[in-house]
Amino acid sequence: MMRQILSLLCLVSLACSKHVAWRPDGTEYSARTMERVWRVLGEFPVIDGHNDFPMAIRDLFHNDIDAVNFDHDLTQEAPWNDFYMNHCDLPRMREGQMGGQFWSAYISCEAQFSDAVQLFMEQVDIIKQLVAKYPNDLKWAVSSDDIEAAISEGRIASMIGVESGHAIGSSLAILRSLYELGVRYMTLTHSCNTPWADAAQVESGDFPVRADGITQFGQKVIHEMNRLGMLVDLAHVSSDVMRQVINTTLAPVIFSHSGARSVCSNVRNVPDDVLQRMPEVGGLVMVNFFTCYLSDDCRERDVTVLDVVKHINHIRKVAGVDYIGIGGDYNGVPWTPVGLEDVSKYPSVFAALIEDQEYEWTDEELGKVANKNLIRVLREVEGVRDRLAAEGLRADNTWVPQGDLGEDTGCMSEVEQA
Ligand SMILES: [Zn+2]
Repeated sequence: MMRQILSLLCLVSLACSKHVAWRPDGTEYSARTMERVWRVLGEFPVIDGHNDFPMAIRDLFHNDIDAVNFDHDLTQEAPWNDFYMNHCDLPRMREGQMGGQFWSAYISCEAQFSDAVQLFMEQVDIIKQLVAKYPNDLKWAVSSDDIEAAISEGRIASMIGVESGHAIGSSLAILRSLYELGVRYMTLTHSCNTPWADAAQVESGDFPVRADGITQFGQKVIHEMNRLGMLVDLAHVSSDVMRQVINTTLAPVIFSHSGARSVCSNVRNVPDDVLQRMPEVGGLVMVNFFTCYLSDDCRERDVTVLDVVKHINHIRKVAGVDYIGIGGDYNGVPWTPVGLEDVSKYPSVFAALIEDQEYEWTDEELGKVANKNLIRVLREVEGVRDRLAAEGLRADNTWVPQGDLGEDTGCMSEVEQA
């Protein structure tokens, strides 16, 4: 309700003139279009699937949260104003009509088979400190009910997504511990294979397959995530992994920041045969804004919000309107589309959809893209968790087979000799 009142006030106030959004051709969206945008996002504020701001806290400040002025305009403040991924602060999140954010706990693949588990834990910790530091704006959320409560209080629901399976060191016990810490999705890989799942880059030939999709242990990871109620995130995995996980999972899956591969051929995007299976699995594709995941000719021309609309429309055509979300990948990519420079610009996506000629978007459908689809998927995943608990399913204590680890045991203290 608070949000509706604020957006109504905004509609009648000249003070909100900064909210003017621009079409890619430099003209202003019509007042009528923007009135609909504020109405829809007032009721259904944007929940974004992936933001790498916590990585910047690590890289720029060694996780000293006191040095982070997240409530300031960071476009005006060192070291941010010189930083190439300066996409996010609280004022801009508010301007962008945000209602929720999955903050990414990300550590690069270099840490795999080394100190990855520790470093991921440190990122989970810093996200919790960030949320705790700004209680008037951010609300810690670990459930669909928490997200709805945050939105009704006019705060931004803050969830944790762990970006990459190397966070668990091939241990289901660590997976469970991350859930206990509040992690609500895990991307199965980043740009490297884990011992139990292949990354997208095996398709571009950057490195060879390791698991041939997912291994038997990988299937156990999926089932343990289903049992816990943690979203399985298929951004970054190979399309064989996508297909095998859809065959395996008991609950809906997400792509926290990916697009449609027939619109842009990058292997980070989702092929049509996988999109077609979203209704069957109840999944969600949260569209990424990185220019080179949006368009194959990203280096030859300006990529714009209209390229985002192309991906959204394609996913709508192949999967349906119930399977689309937004996962901008802000603070994680060097180039963003013209007109979508930072998190303040989400309203432009909805203005462009309203003016789009391919589909007549209803307010209800726009609300689904903004947040309702994500909330529905999380609720379904929680329902599967509750059903499996009622059936008496217990924790899986399987250890990763030694053979899956191959030579990658150098940092392990408990290795069986072959
Ligand atoms: Zn990513």
